[in-house]
Amino acid sequence: MLLVELIKGFSVTLRHMFRRRVTVQYPEQRRRDAPIFRGRHRLQRYADGLERCVGCALCASVCPSEAIYLEAAENDPTNPVSPGERYAKVYQIHLLRCIYCGFCEEACPEDAIVMGPEYELAADARAKCVISKKDMLTPREAGFGDYETFPAPRIG
Ligand code: SF4
Ligand code: SF4
Repeated sequence: MLLVELIKGFSVTLRHMFRRRVTVQYPEQRRRDAPIFRGRHRLQRYADGLERCVGCALCASVCPSEAIYLEAAENDPTNPVSPGERYAKVYQIHLLRCIYCGFCEEACPEDAIVMGPEYELAADARAKCVISKKDMLTPREAGFGDYETFPAPRIG
């Protein structure tokens, strides 16, 4: 009886030895995320460098976790930050509240906020889990949609 059970056990091991591996040697190797993956948020710019966000706060009002804090300000017509009348002077997301539902991205009329590819969001303090514009804004030299080529700074 014991021998039968042993053979059964080893046969399972043998079968799995020749199957394709489903694990990778993280962090040296990484899988490519699905295009619809919802990771840490990005704030996009237009190709001319202006911020897409016009501070309308639709994203904050639709957020079921109340994770978005936003303060809008009037644009200076001689040196505008965004093409609208207003821009987001303060834009923060509390990553510990966020449930990565993507509602903010769907609600945004300007395609300003998008869910980026970052998923390494561990931090050693709660305060570091509140990200702001400097953590989310796509660099000025990158145009719309280039966020994969320009990784946002890591938190923590
Ligand atoms: S992904 Fe969802 S929970 Fe997170 S900030 Fe956007 S709307 Fe809020
Ligand atoms: S990210 Fe979009 S929805 Fe949110 S304030 Fe800016 S323009 Fe409005």
